[in-house]
Amino acid sequence: MSTSVLVINCGSSSIKYALVSEHREDRIFGLAENLGSAEARIKGITAGGAALELSIPHADHEKALETILERLSHYNPQAIGHRVVHGGTLTKAELLTPEIVDRIRAATPLAPLHNPAHLVGIDATMRLFPELPQVAVFDTAFHQTMPAHAYRYALPKFLYTEHNVRRYGFHGTSHAYVSERGSELAGSYKQGGWLTAHLGNGSSTCAIWNGESVDTSMGLTPLEGVVMGTRSGDVDPSLHSFLASNLGWDIYKIDKMLNSQSGLLGLSDLSNDMRTLIEASEQGNEDASIAIEVFCYRLAKSLAALSCGLPRLDGLFFTGGIGENSAYIREKTLAYLPHFGFNLSKEQNDNLKRGTEGRIDAGTGPQIWVVPTDEEGRIAKETESVVSQEVNQAAEKKSKDVAIA
Ligand code: ADP
Repeated sequence: MSTSVLVINCGSSSIKYALVSEHREDRIFGLAENLGSAEARIKGITAGGAALELSIPHADHEKALETILERLSHYNPQAIGHRVVHGGTLTKAELLTPEIVDRIRAATPLAPLHNPAHLVGIDATMRLFPELPQVAVFDTAFHQTMPAHAYRYALPKFLYTEHNVRRYGFHGTSHAYVSERGSELAGSYKQGGWLTAHLGNGSSTCAIWNGESVDTSMGLTPLEGVVMGTRSGDVDPSLHSFLASNLGWDIYKIDKMLNSQSGLLGLSDLSNDMRTLIEASEQGNEDASIAIEVFCYRLAKSLAALSCGLPRLDGLFFTGGIGENSAYIREKTLAYLPHFGFNLSKEQNDNLKRGTEGRIDAGTGPQIWVVPTDEEGRIAKETESVVSQEVNQAAEKKSKDVAIA
């Protein structure tokens, strides 16, 4: 494998990793899961494409990272890129320095489930590989181009000015990659007005004008917006006081319910997995059918709303596990948007092969594309670009110092 970047995505009980080669053509990837338990293990794909399964009983994040890095060190990764969900007010990928680590820590109240896990991973890789440059790539950074009328909430001003309460948006790495790649496929690289629908376990929509995010469905946290696997998306904010007054629930119970017991799982009372719900619905399960219908209707509503951020609508990109693989969900969602002129080709939609990119409209109206996301590839690219900027700046400084001497 040529020059490569190791991409790390550290969650609370799992670590996803990918070693990405310079031109992103080769990948070694995997997942360390059940960390801290007797069932801790690493599952992945090796350089030859073979499956890997390794038991690492009771391994914590550091031990798991040590094992992953030991297995990969002979490929000599040139840098490590960390996916970090919340960058607070940081607007772009950053080389990890003590100051940047402090700013990631300061953004923890805005992503209490994600940032602490990322910091554990950053800490461990910095200790294990102090000589390697490490970069943080933020899910929020792509959305820092949103105008104030899109990112401000209609709340008292001091909550924004003194406590950073505003809409940030997430899945930025995916929306950035998909809109860039999709507009390239459409022959108008980073030009025009596009909507993206990233539909996975977490889902969000984004409006992009000339390559920049102008609005997105997620907000202060990744709970706002469309219906997700276990997250509710938008609800009436007074739900909290209703549940507190009538059921005596405290804020933690409400938060847990909205984040992990709602969405597709809550509606169907069956599963958070779209494949399971489609199968159940086909067999007549009405709860599964209503979960799917709410998902598609709310998604269409979100796309329609976000289109207000665009001076012109050139088209829509579907991505994520559901967006890439389910012709049924794409068709159902677009059926709620006939007034936008979308004209889906049923044949192209149904026949698009899994995991491939392709255009699925009938040639009139805004374009419709499926573009498989590549968050690891994008993180690797941004990591390389930050590291090469640093190298150039250091070389420039050295030559200036020599000239002065
Ligand atoms: P994550 O957000 O965890 O990365 P993914 O992007 O892998 O998740 O998306 C997972 C979702 O994609 C699940 O709801 C899964 O059921 C759904 N999915 C995958 N394949 C299909 C398919 N063929 N039809 C419908 N849904 C699918």
